[in-house]
Amino acid sequence: MAEKHKESILIIDDEAMVRNVLCQLLCDKYFCIAAETAEDALAILEEKTFDLIISDIDLGRTNGIELIPKVFESSPDTVVVMISGKQTIESAIDAMRVGAFDYIKKPFDLDYVEIAVRRALDHHYLLTAKRRYENHLEELVKQRTDELHYLAYHDALTDLPNRILFEDRLFQAFVQARQNRQKIAVLFLSLDRFKIISDTLGHIPGFKLLQEVAERLKRCVGENSTIARFEGDEFALLLTQIKNAKEVVEIVEKIVEEINFPFSIDRNKLFTTASIGVGFFPEDGDDIQTLLKNTGVALSRVKAQGGNSYQFFTPEMNLSVLKRLSLENDLRYALERNEFEVYFQPKLDIHTRQIVGMEALVRWNHPKSGIVSPHDFIPLAEETGLIVPLGEWVLRNACLQNKKWQNDGLKFLPMSVNVSPRQLETPNLSEIVAEILAETKMDASYLELEVTESSIMSDPECAVKMLNDLKKIGIRISIDDFGTGYSSLSYLKHLPIDVLKIDRAFVQDLASNADDAALVMTIITLAHHLRLKVVAEGVETEDQLRYLHLLKCDEWQGFLYSKPVSADRFIKLLADENQIAAQDLMKDQ
Ligand code: C2E
Ligand code: MG
Ligand code: MG
Repeated sequence: MAEKHKESILIIDDEAMVRNVLCQLLCDKYFCIAAETAEDALAILEEKTFDLIISDIDLGRTNGIELIPKVFESSPDTVVVMISGKQTIESAIDAMRVGAFDYIKKPFDLDYVEIAVRRALDHHYLLTAKRRYENHLEELVKQRTDELHYLAYHDALTDLPNRILFEDRLFQAFVQARQNRQKIAVLFLSLDRFKIISDTLGHIPGFKLLQEVAERLKRCVGENSTIARFEGDEFALLLTQIKNAKEVVEIVEKIVEEINFPFSIDRNKLFTTASIGVGFFPEDGDDIQTLLKNTGVALSRVKAQGGNSYQFFTPEMNLSVLKRLSLENDLRYALERNEFEVYFQPKLDIHTRQIVGMEALVRWNHPKSGIVSPHDFIPLAEETGLIVPLGEWVLRNACLQNKKWQNDGLKFLPMSVNVSPRQLETPNLSEIVAEILAETKMDASYLELEVTESSIMSDPECAVKMLNDLKKIGIRISIDDFGTGYSSLSYLKHLPIDVLKIDRAFVQDLASNADDAALVMTIITLAHHLRLKVVAEGVETEDQLRYLHLLKCDEWQGFLYSKPVSADRFIKLLADENQIAAQDLMKDQ
């Protein structure tokens, strides 16, 4: 068995007799060393620390009271017991004041000395235990602090720096670039339709995709660059010591290529694309906030143009942001000021070319800018939530107009009205629609609501429930802009819909692009198989119409016959149609 560690005592006294007595008394149990003067003691203490020091107060040149602070400097847990021949309370108080633990009077009562030594060593034991505990605690706190520090500056999912660390690195890069007159590039990258991917496949595959994107980004840039994940599917890259824009273009194109390559997530092949906005220091902002803001503007521009591309910031982009801000402001008042109007675009039968329906499309008569296109304000109304009251307004006024035509004895024509994603998420949409139908006395069988694929795919379960509720009222549902979203054809059979509207993008090149023609044919065949009616959007030429006829499309709408027109002009279209029909009748007779 290892010999038990002996506690150590340094005895300091100028009287040899005292040193001997104490050593004799204590050396059996403890490891004792004796010193005659304070200087000798300090020399010994330089070599070794002691658990206990028993020191005389009167020691010649340096006395015991002066010695104690020096002991504590090098060994704060050593316990000191003072000895003195003086019987005064003042000397005891002096000793305690500088940190002595106990005080023994001469001549000694040896039993008392043994008790006092034991008590002092027990105190030392407590002190060292407390110190150990404190050290341990300090280490734990440090470790936790390091961990928290890491978490505060990194993204837990990808382990990349987060926004705070990115901005910190950007700040340092600014300082260096200013000193050395260098360029910096900041890239904002966002995955296109990431929300749809993660909503359709679940969050875990979505997370794995983001981790894989992080790995691919690392392969595209040098070690000195910083890649950060901000939130969701947004990443930021900081490229320093840039020589020219060409260098950045090469990196950006490499990134686009890397992201376009299919991802293997849980044995599924996933395809995604990225939008990238680029800003340069100093041209696009010589402070952090301006540069980040402008890079964000460049990214929004790429997204607004359909994604899967990149753009460098230009000052004109900010002008359109300003325009957007003032538009947003005006939009808030447009409803109160009665600036909206419903236009109607006829839908025609593919065989007879007769008007068989209409689509209601909103227009904004802006007091200064004139007619603003829905493309410019519908997304804004979506973002701000104004689409909900605006959508109600359109539905009410379109129904009022249609009912009026019916009352005026015109042909009863079914009418479709667009419903935006945000409206579809409104829990009481079916009640609102039912109320409007009751209020305008419009028969539900003449109303169709157009929803887009993506608004269904963002929360299919909820959307299907809402569509079922709407169908219960007796109205019909169509899928608008079909082919541009993410839903698979096989998904269609699960949806309670009546009509498919083929997006203009496929109709446009129908006559010149065999792939588009094949696609449209597949869509029409499948839709008919599912007993859905097919309407082609955006027909502009006779050629396109001929193809649609051949492919057995049911109805069409487009500039070839008429643009969306005001209610007054729509009656004229109907009247013209009647006149032509009457003339035809006359000719036949
Ligand atoms: P949409 O529902 O797909 O409507 C068809 C759009 O295509 C209309 O644009 C129409 O003017 C246009 N169009 C029709 N035929 C042709 C053609 O032959 N050639 C070309 N180039 N375009 C054609 P518009 O009226 O500017 O509306 C754009 C989009 O704004 C609509 O697309 C719809 O998504 C949305 N929108 C319009 N009105 C409303 C509304 O009241 N509520 C909601 N939520 N969205 C609306
Ligand atoms: Mg539509
Ligand atoms: Mg459409």
